[in-house]
Amino acid sequence: MSFGEKVKEALIARAAEGLALSVSVILIWVSFKVGPAILPALEASLSKSLLISVLLASLALNIIFLALFWVTRKKSEFQLKYGIYWDKDKNPHCPNCKIPIGAYNKYHAGWGYYCKPCKNIYPLTDAAGNNIKPEQAVSEL
Ligand SMILES: [Zn+2]
Repeated sequence: MSFGEKVKEALIARAAEGLALSVSVILIWVSFKVGPAILPALEASLSKSLLISVLLASLALNIIFLALFWVTRKKSEFQLKYGIYWDKDKNPHCPNCKIPIGAYNKYHAGWGYYCKPCKNIYPLTDAAGNNIKPEQAVSEL
């Protein structure tokens, strides 16, 4: 992804957030202005049983939305191990751009996976910086 595309994507995300925030502010402002005028009329015309059924329907919808969110929550398709992303079939992926990377080879900077788009070598190392063999990393996935 080029710099221009990243800027464009960030601007779209910020514009959506700004739009949602401004709509929320307008709705809250309108509620404060209109609410006191229509609240007595609403209280007089609505029965308690209707209010309770609306409350229960709202509660049921919230539980349904929570369940849908829980079911559709997307789990990450990659697992990070020794500085490299691995997919479910134990293929290595670049830790920066997440595209598949080739074989573990010796380069001028040492052993590692080379990512062409990133032009970088990513070594397999543990938290202490010790070199790890790909067989060991794959066996621990
Ligand atoms: Zn990369």
